[in-house]
Amino acid sequence: MEVLENVPLSSLTTIKVGGVARYYGQPSTLEELKYLLDFAKDKDIPLFILGGGSNTVFGDFEGLVINMKGFTGMHVESLGETYKVTAFAGTPLKEIIKLALRKNLEGIYRLAGFPATVGGAVSMNAGAFSVEIRDFLEEVEFLSWNGETVRAKAEELRFGYRISPFPEIGVVLRCTFKLRRSDKDVTEEYRGIVMKRKKSQPINLPTCGSTFKNPYPFYAGELLEKVKLKGERFGGVAFSEKHANFLVNLGWGKTADVKKALREAKRRVFEEFGIRLQEEVRIVESGGSYGGTFL
Ligand SMILES: Cc1cc2nc3c(=O)[nH]c(=O)nc-3n(C[C@H](O)[C@H](O)[C@H](O)COP(=O)(O)OP(=O)(O)OC[C@H]3O[C@@H](n4cnc5c(N)ncnc54)[C@H](O)[C@@H]3O)c2cc1C
Repeated sequence: MEVLENVPLSSLTTIKVGGVARYYGQPSTLEELKYLLDFAKDKDIPLFILGGGSNTVFGDFEGLVINMKGFTGMHVESLGETYKVTAFAGTPLKEIIKLALRKNLEGIYRLAGFPATVGGAVSMNAGAFSVEIRDFLEEVEFLSWNGETVRAKAEELRFGYRISPFPEIGVVLRCTFKLRRSDKDVTEEYRGIVMKRKKSQPINLPTCGSTFKNPYPFYAGELLEKVKLKGERFGGVAFSEKHANFLVNLGWGKTADVKKALREAKRRVFEEFGIRLQEEVRIVESGGSYGGTFL
C-alpha cells in the first residue's frame, strides 16, 4: 500500500480549492485501510476520510487523507416488492439512483443531482426534497477506530439533520438499503427534481452545495440574501447569483477566500438577525476544522 506525500487536494473536491495533504492513501481492501489507520496512529497524525469531496473544503493538512474511492461495487437482491441493495462506501450514490429509476423504486431518486459517494452521503445523512438517506438505510458495516469490523442496524445509529455518528465511530465500509417498488411511475418526478435543481442551483460551477445548514425555521439562503450576500465576491469565490447559500469558485478561488466568505456571512447574519449560522460544508486543515471533524 503506497502512501503518497505532499499531494495537492483541490482536484479531489467539487469546489476545486485546497492545499496539500502531507500524506495520502487510496486503499481498495480492508487490509490496506487498516494499514493506513495504523500508519496514522504510528506517526500520531490526524486523518481524514474522503468520499466524493462534494462537501469538503481542504486547506493544508499535516495529516493523512484516506480516499475511499477504491471501495466500490454494489450487490442487488430482488425480494419481490422490495430490493435489498448493498453498496461499498466509495460507490457513487448515483449508481443506486440509476438502479432505482430502472426498477421504479420509491424515494431515493430524490437524492439525485449531487456527486456523493455512499459513505459520504451516509456520513452527512444527505437529504433533499423531503427525504434523507437514513430513510432507506437498513444496515451499515464500518471499521471502528480500534480496528474491529462492526455491523449496525440503522435504527441503532443516531442520525439527524446532516449529521450521523460517522466518521466519529469509524469508517463506513458498506451500506445496505431497502428500496420499495413504487406503484406510480417515478421518472416524471425525478425529471422535475433535476429541472428544479438546474433552475435554482449553480450545478455547473465548482461548488460544494449548501454552505450553511438551515437554522430552523429559517432558510440560510434567504438570510444570506437579506444581508446582501447573493453574488458578493470574496477573492476568487462568490455566493452564487442563483442560490445565495451556494458558494462557487470563480476559477481562482483559494481556501482563504472560502474562510473569509464564511466568516463575513456569519458576522452579517448574526448582527442582523442574532442567528448563528452553522457550516454544513466541512473545512479540513491543520490547526482546526470547523463544520465537521477530522480524527
Ligand atoms: C451541486 C451540489 C449539490 C448538493 N446538494 C445537496 C443536497 O441537496 N443535499 C445534501 O445533503 N447535500 C448536498 N450536497 C453536498 C454533498 O454532495 C453531500 O453532503 C454528500 O453527501 C457528500 O458526499 P461525499 O461523498 O462527497 O462526501 P465528502 O465531502 O467526501 O465527505 C463528507 C463527510 O463525510 C465523511 N465521509 C466520507 N466518506 C466516509 C466514509 N466512508 N466513512 C466515514 N465518513 C466518511 C467525511 O469524512 C466528511 O466528514 C451538494 C453538493 C453539490 C456539489
